[in-house]
Amino acid sequence: MERALLAFKGSNSFRRAGGSVQSELPMQELLGGNRARILPFRKGMPLADDDGSLCLLSAKHSLLRGGPECRADPYAYIGQLAGIPIFVVEICGDPDDSRHEDHDPFDAMIHTHPLLPEAATFRNLRGLMGSLSTDEAEIAATGKALLNWHRNARYCGRCGEATMATHEGWQRRCSGCGVDHFPRTNPVVIMLVERNEQLLLGRSHHWPDLMYSLLAGFVEPGETVEAAVRRETMEETGVQVGDVAYVTSQPWPFASSLMLGCRASALGSRVRINPVEIEDAKWLDKSQVLSLLCKDMPSMRPPARGSIASYLMHGWVTDRLE
Ligand SMILES: [Zn+2]
Repeated sequence: MERALLAFKGSNSFRRAGGSVQSELPMQELLGGNRARILPFRKGMPLADDDGSLCLLSAKHSLLRGGPECRADPYAYIGQLAGIPIFVVEICGDPDDSRHEDHDPFDAMIHTHPLLPEAATFRNLRGLMGSLSTDEAEIAATGKALLNWHRNARYCGRCGEATMATHEGWQRRCSGCGVDHFPRTNPVVIMLVERNEQLLLGRSHHWPDLMYSLLAGFVEPGETVEAAVRRETMEETGVQVGDVAYVTSQPWPFASSLMLGCRASALGSRVRINPVEIEDAKWLDKSQVLSLLCKDMPSMRPPARGSIASYLMHGWVTDRLE
């Protein structure tokens, strides 16, 4: 069986700007140089070529030459790839536009732009996951999550005044009370719940038709990862979980989550779904999970290739969990 892909797992060659590695030059100087490349987003979707790779533009490209009114926020500097400074920007953003990708994340939307060649379109990042290089995936995931945070943090949660982007796009400062706001990441547990060589899969109401995947849920304030796995599994399916072990993680920029992949031992098999939480849940043995992943089950569809759910299920069925 083909080895599974874990999208957004990070690359060794991309030097992130938001962490310990900072640029030696001021942002305007980096942006003004000939080497700088910009990944534009529109409605939360990155610009891509028709071969499924990212389309990074020179700062002098006509799409980017408009004034600040053409951009939702100033450019954000996200890091360097082979010495090339990489920026992201949301063009012609409208935070109230209901056609934003995050409002219908499973719709394979494509937006064109009159200033771009036909082959370059703004495309749903979920649909690009399988074709991006590790460098491109990290750039796209970082940019999408950062721009999404800017879109949702325009006003101070403490005093209600407007905030302004600072620190090369990695902070926002309130114009009223002066407090600094930082990009946030929301932890989500996603778990292989297993018992007697069977795997528990569920189906959410809002997923594409017939799609089944691993159970998942947000970690609550004051809660450990292990407790979140046990609580979510019990809440959704009525199945009690014992031992929980961490396996791996995946940044998930839809909108700003960090998926914490776990393996959990169920203490019983009886399933009583909570219809408010999920639509269905069922136990599958290894041959059934294999058929599902190979798309050989007419009544069920697997999670998207590149997602941590797909990665963990491949690892479980082939006994190659890392
Ligand atoms: Zn404030």
